[in-house]
Amino acid sequence: MTEKFVGQCQCAAVNYLVTGTSATLFACHCTDCQRQSASAFGMALWIKNAQVEVLSGELKEWVRHMPSGRKMSCRFCGVCGTRVFHQVIGSDILSIKPGTLNNTKDLVPCGHIWTDSKQEWIHIDEKALRYTGNPENFDALIAAWHSDHA
Ligand SMILES: [Zn+2]
Ligand SMILES: [Zn+2]
Repeated sequence: MTEKFVGQCQCAAVNYLVTGTSATLFACHCTDCQRQSASAFGMALWIKNAQVEVLSGELKEWVRHMPSGRKMSCRFCGVCGTRVFHQVIGSDILSIKPGTLNNTKDLVPCGHIWTDSKQEWIHIDEKALRYTGNPENFDALIAAWHSDHA
């Protein structure tokens, strides 16, 4: 099923439309995501077959060198710095930073990763998948999202 995702950065210079299929939504409690989000955790909404249209403004890019040796393209508003998209270079999955979406109502993560470094005051829903670090693969997170959104 093809879905449409509309969002913008904090200063509203960047507006985007992503068309594609949502694959999963999870929260990451790693210290890197804490620093990147300047908050307690990061969220990632994965989109397959994503077609990105930047409707206004301009995204800048910073390339992050990941511990795995791979590189991640991190795109953000050049005016206000809001991080909007992540994509591992060579991957066909686009990750939207879902707090930038205009509609954030149904954004319930189906799992939490890197719980070893999560802030102690965060209590995770018992139904959600949890991983102390990086999952070996994301199959279960994708399956859980699919069964919740079938
Ligand atoms: Zn902006
Ligand atoms: Zn993380």
